[in-house]
Amino acid sequence: MPAALRSLTLARSRRVPERVEYVEGWGMALGAFASVLRPRSTEEVLECFALATQRGLPLVLRGGGNSYGDASMNSRGLVLDSSAFNRVLAFDPCTGVATLEPGVTIEKLWKTILPLGYWPRVVSGTMFPTVAGALAANIHGKNNYAVGTIGDACLEFDLALPSGAHKTCSRTQNADLFHAAIGGFGLLGCFTRIVLQTKRVHSGDVRVSAASPRTLKEMMDYFEAHKREADYLVGWIDAFCGGDSAGRGLIHRADYLEPGEDSQPEQTLRVAHQELPANILGAFPKSQVWRVLGLFNHDPGMRAINAAKYVAGRLESMAPAYRQSHAGFAFLLDYVPNWKWAYGRRRGDYGLIQYQPFVPHAHAHAVHSEILARCRRAGHVPYLGVLKRHRPDPFWLTHAVDGWSMALDFKVTPSRRAELWKLCAELTELVLSAGGRFYFAKDAVIDAGDAARFLPRDRMAAFAALKRECDPRTLLEGDLYRRAFREWVEHPPAP
Ligand SMILES: Cc1cc2nc3c(=O)[nH]c(=O)nc-3n(C[C@H](O)[C@H](O)[C@H](O)COP(=O)(O)OP(=O)(O)OC[C@H]3O[C@@H](n4cnc5c(N)ncnc54)[C@H](O)[C@@H]3O)c2cc1C
Repeated sequence: MPAALRSLTLARSRRVPERVEYVEGWGMALGAFASVLRPRSTEEVLECFALATQRGLPLVLRGGGNSYGDASMNSRGLVLDSSAFNRVLAFDPCTGVATLEPGVTIEKLWKTILPLGYWPRVVSGTMFPTVAGALAANIHGKNNYAVGTIGDACLEFDLALPSGAHKTCSRTQNADLFHAAIGGFGLLGCFTRIVLQTKRVHSGDVRVSAASPRTLKEMMDYFEAHKREADYLVGWIDAFCGGDSAGRGLIHRADYLEPGEDSQPEQTLRVAHQELPANILGAFPKSQVWRVLGLFNHDPGMRAINAAKYVAGRLESMAPAYRQSHAGFAFLLDYVPNWKWAYGRRRGDYGLIQYQPFVPHAHAHAVHSEILARCRRAGHVPYLGVLKRHRPDPFWLTHAVDGWSMALDFKVTPSRRAELWKLCAELTELVLSAGGRFYFAKDAVIDAGDAARFLPRDRMAAFAALKRECDPRTLLEGDLYRRAFREWVEHPPAP
């Protein structure tokens, strides 16, 4: 263990396990060694706060570590990982209300409730986030335009504060803290109990159909025409293609089945029906697919894969709608375990960042088209592009707008890093000038000045005041806080 890290672990907890580990963002492009504490109860969370105070070190909260950038990293202190604090405390099959400890993953949640005829109202593209990490980021799904974020599905939570207090928050009790801690990236306190409303479903399958737009405009028009009746809409974009076909791609729409439409719901609602197959085409183990993808993880290879996907999408869009399991549709990215390893596995040097600007509807087509064009001109073409439609929500630091996001995966290598960050800075200027926003769960590049340009002034001032009240000695501070929050939290604008 490096000498500097040994000093982090001097005063030890009698109960909470602690280990020095390499802690990285999901995209692997950022990481650092840190001492990680894994409490299993509210008492142990408070003990971790006391320990950090005693050692005079800042602490960051961490769930499943699925944020692409530095949201749950701490290169200058301790990490409190709440993923082992993970029991489902209650589920009411009459109302669909789930009461959960913070470390319950989305996977554990759906596996518990689906056999009883429920599905989480909001899920991310992967099932591995914890509910606390999801609530702290205020995640959205492919149905954001229709049902809002996970915060909209949250009825109540308990929050352990560094000040020592433990508060229950809802829309009617400690309402400010409720709206600030959801989407507050773990900077006000640690969720210790979360109550979520889930959705009644009548089948373990959804009905899926595909459309294959030839341009970004066609894709956006399709979303607008179908968003009132479609339960889920998501668009994949071939970012390599320019000219008249810029923004071409594939849309997937999914709808819940009505009662009676599935003749065997007792079969499809079983977890076994949802499980993704262990082998691709019945033979090739999916655990090894990332190695094959790695062979194509360069510009010519990804150009070819994107083109092939577009052609396959055109064929798919001619076929009739088909049924797919909820998990198969929602968690497509989990189909290939550890696909990110295709980007290279050398700590901190190789990996990917995701850049996901959210742009208001009126400017979205122009800004997203310009972003794709600039990426191509700069020679940094995203290997994956995903378009979603969003709606605003009441949470103080929300990323959501009445508009569109485009999530772009960029490859990071030591030789590309500086140029890529420079390109992102230029794109950020474009997005902010159009009234756009960013999402800290995906971000690795913006700074506190950028954040202060898109967060509403009154919300920043109110958040800074709550931070002083809940965390008077700034115990909750990680890499994201130092990069994108500290400046405006310590010097908030006049409301
Ligand atoms: C492949 C992939 C697909 C994704 N798709 C989507 C998507 O479709 N939509 C979307 O919105 N996001 C998506 N994400 C992002 C992901 O949902 C968020 O980053 C989420 O926050 C991850 O949760 P986590 O448990 O891994 O938390 P972490 O990443 O470990 O932490 C996230 C934040 O939560 C805070 N936190 C953790 N535990 C607690 C706690 N107990 N109390 C208070 N704060 C806490 C941390 O401090 C941090 O700020 C995706 C990520 C991946 C890797």
